[in-house]
Amino acid sequence: MEQHKKYDYLIVGAGLFGSVFAYEATKKGKKCLVIDKRDHIGGNVYTEKVEDINVHKYGAHIFHTNSKEIWDYVNQFVEFNRYTNSPIANYKGELYNLPFNMNTFNKLWGVITPQEAKQKIEEQKKHAGISEPTNLEEQAISLIGTDIYEKLIKGYTEKQWGRAATELPSFIIKRLPVRFTYDNNYFNDKYQGIPTGGYTLIIEKMLENVDVQLNVDFFADREELMKLANKVVFTGMIDEFYNYKFGVLEYRSLTFENQKLDTDNYQGNAVVNYTDRETQYTRIIEHKHFEFGTQENTIITKEYPKEWKKGDEPYYPVNNDKNNLLYKKYKELANQEQNVIFGGRLATYKYYDMHQVIGSALISIEKEFKL
Ligand code: FAD
Ligand code: UDP
Repeated sequence: MEQHKKYDYLIVGAGLFGSVFAYEATKKGKKCLVIDKRDHIGGNVYTEKVEDINVHKYGAHIFHTNSKEIWDYVNQFVEFNRYTNSPIANYKGELYNLPFNMNTFNKLWGVITPQEAKQKIEEQKKHAGISEPTNLEEQAISLIGTDIYEKLIKGYTEKQWGRAATELPSFIIKRLPVRFTYDNNYFNDKYQGIPTGGYTLIIEKMLENVDVQLNVDFFADREELMKLANKVVFTGMIDEFYNYKFGVLEYRSLTFENQKLDTDNYQGNAVVNYTDRETQYTRIIEHKHFEFGTQENTIITKEYPKEWKKGDEPYYPVNNDKNNLLYKKYKELANQEQNVIFGGRLATYKYYDMHQVIGSALISIEKEFKL
């Protein structure tokens, strides 16, 4: 019976997970149909050329990885430039370097040596009386002290997540390096860059020999779509897949406000974070700086966080205990599926970066093809 189906895989979502899976399965001679409810491929890594500038339509995307295998993997599709992310934090007009490093400590406290900086942090940590951090606030203070927490973390975090920092998991802040050198590189990974010409090029190459249908929502025609293929690869929201039967997982969403400005250089950096609580947006992205652009104009994007509700784009899973527990229940159902593979940020409810999504898609392929 199965042989009569038109496709081996119906892949729901033309983001990074779905595209890697489709590319690899096609290479192995399988027939894939990729659908996406959006009107373009690429999911959240989608870039679009506007006024000769590659605009990151769903927020700043900087590729970074420690794995040579994953770095080589993405480089087979497109060339990467030497961009190194070094965002600036703007706290009520005071500017600081990120991530937290000797430049930050020097600006804030006037300290010059790593030893002086460590001593300052140790004093503040001691004063706060934290031994075993149990939430983001305690974790942050124990890593870099109360001054930095108050100016650079608390406001940004609470508007980004819409929750008190004491109610958020510590791992979120551990994404950021703390360094006792004068190094403003936001990542510790060995490899980093931006694809020359934008991320969409990568996805176009991955999907070159794959059937793709856009503006198709899996849930609008689930039964019929499932009949088209032997197996489904699902990269949408796992709770929606199960019709929210155990309850709704929480996400944070974003509104992006784009502006074209009549200047060649608006803020002198690709990413500037606004770390006070009052400014409604978290960061301003100036896209041309990702590719060292020399265009006459510029395009900037302000990123406004908001709570996700049905119909919004779910950008960030809120991985607190309550949601992780709920996810576990859905995951148990997912584990029993014979013909559905769940993958990517939404279907596994994980705060994954691009390299992790690629890595996990390659693992799914290995499992599927028993490599
Ligand atoms: P997605 O890109 O979300 O793709 C899922 C696709 O499925 C979407 O296109 C969606 O439309 C489609 N879909 C969902 N439901 C349905 C349905 N019912 N029917 C049809 N289609 C459906 N990572 C980094 O490494 N570096 C960064 O600097 C970075 N910055 C980020 C900044 C922001 C603001 C955000 C939100 C994420 C950032 N990321 C970054 C993470 C990165 O975007 C993700 O790791 C990656 O894009 C996830 O790929 P995915 O395929 O899992 O999901
Ligand atoms: N963060 C912060 N201040 C900053 C930048 C980040 O407090 O200037 C915190 C915030 O809680 C954020 C987390 O660190 O959600 C992770 O930051 P990252 O830049 O990795 O966030 P993403 O790019 O994934 O939105």
